[in-house]
Amino acid sequence: TLVLIPALKSAVSSSRMAGRTPSEDLSHRIAIAVLVGSLLSALVTALIARPLLGRVGDLSRATAALREGKLDSRVVVRGNDEVAELGRSFNALAEELGASEAQRRQMVTDVAHELRTPLTNIIGLVEAVRDGLRAPDDSLMLALQEEAALLNQLVDDLRDLSLADAGELPLSLEMLHATEELRRTAAAFPAVPGESTIVVATADDDLTLRADRRRLGQILRNLVQNARRYSPDGGTVTLRASREGGMVRLAVADTGIGIAPEHLPHVWERFYRVDGSRAKSTGGMGLGLALVNRLATAQGGRVGVASEPGEGSTFWVELPAE
Ligand code: ADP
Repeated sequence: TLVLIPALKSAVSSSRMAGRTPSEDLSHRIAIAVLVGSLLSALVTALIARPLLGRVGDLSRATAALREGKLDSRVVVRGNDEVAELGRSFNALAEELGASEAQRRQMVTDVAHELRTPLTNIIGLVEAVRDGLRAPDDSLMLALQEEAALLNQLVDDLRDLSLADAGELPLSLEMLHATEELRRTAAAFPAVPGESTIVVATADDDLTLRADRRRLGQILRNLVQNARRYSPDGGTVTLRASREGGMVRLAVADTGIGIAPEHLPHVWERFYRVDGSRAKSTGGMGLGLALVNRLATAQGGRVGVASEPGEGSTFWVELPAE
């Protein structure tokens, strides 16, 4: 309007002077208005588009750098408009990519490290027999079998973890009786002199949950195995089921060494051990709880832990009630 009114005014006065007909006069006015409007819109577009194009160019260069593997590529975010929002999303994405790449590298290093110990032991045992330093007797066979079983466990756990990560863990969810599953787990751990006694302390047979029986068994066995492993003086491992809102909680409580508060949040991480040397001597590889966590979340559940150093720990898994 600002452009058109003065343009039309000047067109009217100039047409009066030029003595044009009314229709010639109108065409003349429109032509001038269009010309002035176009010039102005080109000017405004240039003013706005130039900095915008510059910022889009920055984003495009940063994306290209990311594609080439430069995971530290970031853009400088200015303002609060859509381009700034895009820049923030780009930076967050690059951050996540960098973190997952670092995690992948760490995982490869950890796996190689874990494979080395049992393999070195197997090679050492075989060499000892070949050099005539050890007889190929039952105890040697047992030692070899234990090392091979460790390798087997590591491979199984890694496979399950990667299936769960990819959301491809085959699950067959069904209605299960909590107490029955606890009893089944307890039965898998026969009494051993010097090791904790396993007790099921829930009599409520009506507590039902929805889970995959095989995977739930795997979770519970892992927790009970840990409870025994980290209770060097024996004691009692108590299994309990309770209702927590819409979930059923299955808890495994021990009277073992406990875990210091600073370690507690990390115990669910892959290859994390509170005391590497002790866990190693008891056969732990630091994958058990990571797997428990992944198996529980894959079934719509969650995990938790409370612990007191020197008193014991209670680990639990909560799964949807049926
Ligand atoms: P690991 O194979 O080493 O047992 P996990 O992932 O099962 O690995 O456990 C991680 C770490 O958490 C263990 O190394 C141990 O230090 C600690 N932990 C797990 N369960 C218990 C427990 N019941 N009592 C004390 N510490 C535990």
